[in-house]
Amino acid sequence: MSKDIFVFAEQRSGAVQKVSLELIGEAARLAADLGEQVVAVLMGYQVADKAPLLCQYGAEKVLVVDHPVLEHYTTEPYVKAMEYIIRTYDPNVVLYGASSIGRDMAPRVAGRIHTGLTADCTRLDVDVEKYQAYLRRASQIPAERIDSLDKTDRNLKMTRPAFGGNVMATIICPEYRPQMATVRPGVMEMPERNPDAVGEIVMVDAGLSMEDRNVEILEVVRSGKKAVDITDAKILVSGGRGVGGPEGYEPLRELAAVLGGEVSSSRIGVDSGWIEKDRQVGQTGKTVHPDLYIACGISGAIQHLAGMESSECIIAINTDENCPMMKIADLGIVGDLKVIVPKLTEAIKAYRAEQRIG
Ligand SMILES: Cc1cc2nc3c(=O)[nH]c(=O)nc-3n(C[C@H](O)[C@H](O)[C@H](O)COP(=O)(O)OP(=O)(O)OC[C@H]3O[C@@H](n4cnc5c(N)ncnc54)[C@H](O)[C@@H]3O)c2cc1C
Repeated sequence: MSKDIFVFAEQRSGAVQKVSLELIGEAARLAADLGEQVVAVLMGYQVADKAPLLCQYGAEKVLVVDHPVLEHYTTEPYVKAMEYIIRTYDPNVVLYGASSIGRDMAPRVAGRIHTGLTADCTRLDVDVEKYQAYLRRASQIPAERIDSLDKTDRNLKMTRPAFGGNVMATIICPEYRPQMATVRPGVMEMPERNPDAVGEIVMVDAGLSMEDRNVEILEVVRSGKKAVDITDAKILVSGGRGVGGPEGYEPLRELAAVLGGEVSSSRIGVDSGWIEKDRQVGQTGKTVHPDLYIACGISGAIQHLAGMESSECIIAINTDENCPMMKIADLGIVGDLKVIVPKLTEAIKAYRAEQRIG
């Protein structure tokens, strides 16, 4: 019988990706509801030393597939190794980060194994009571329909935005195993690291050979520009159409600099070529949870809110006092951002200087 929650533990150049640790945390919550184990699947070349870290974040077992053909990610060997793992160990659930690697690999694995895959999930449940509590809180489904759900149902309920983010859809895969999902980075909570936790580490021979690759990587050239990770920022100063153009982000950069934060953007800024794609917040950008999110000239479309509404404190600066961003903001400043943002920067600088004098 299919059992246990498997997480594809993605590593790049030996560094385990944050999203995989978030998924191990989520897998632990699901596994507790099911009475099953969390198993991490680590693939690469000379990566076995990373397995204990996965146990410290909550994996009870780590299956390590270590082979030179897995040194750099290429589709065929990784998919072949995951297919071997699934056929050998028969997991109940397999979770992947919705990174470029997870998005490339998971659908192909689903095709080979002949099972379903739900992409870009924002919520996962097995326990019906927890799922009902979520529906009562977040949906307009009539109470009697929610109450009538079968409490013995142990299928994975995979919830994701659909129809341009206007509805949330919950998808199940009752006929096939494993149930598979990708989850975007930053969506699930990062678990606490327990440096004393240990788990079982199993080296797996997935029958790989150098002949398995159909693409040869001749050279890996790193981009000269350091990519920013806005998901790590504690403070984000975010700009939207209201900034008016690429130069409109400059005052936001100055404000972010005095606050020790980063600049991010709505999709409009990115689509208009005003700012880099890796700074986009929202459904098709990144999900962020900063302590402070300052939304400058962003109306608060549902697809944008999906990426930032769980920020600790939200300040909206907008000429429209009725825009949706104002409705979710902890503090709203109504006015022209071109006037307010530089004033805010000056006021913070002056306050800092005064504090130092005092
Ligand atoms: C499938 C799909 C996925 C999407 N994914 C994303 C996503 O990931 N992220 C995202 O952001 N969007 C996404 N969108 C787009 C989204 O629907 C909105 O179009 C977008 O978020 C609007 O960006 P905005 O708030 O910057 O612009 P607008 O909605 O045009 O709002 C501009 C705001 O600026 C204010 N303003 C104008 N001038 C000033 C000024 N001088 N001072 C102060 N305020 C001013 C206006 O009052 C207005 O509220 C997606 C859409 C679809 C269909």
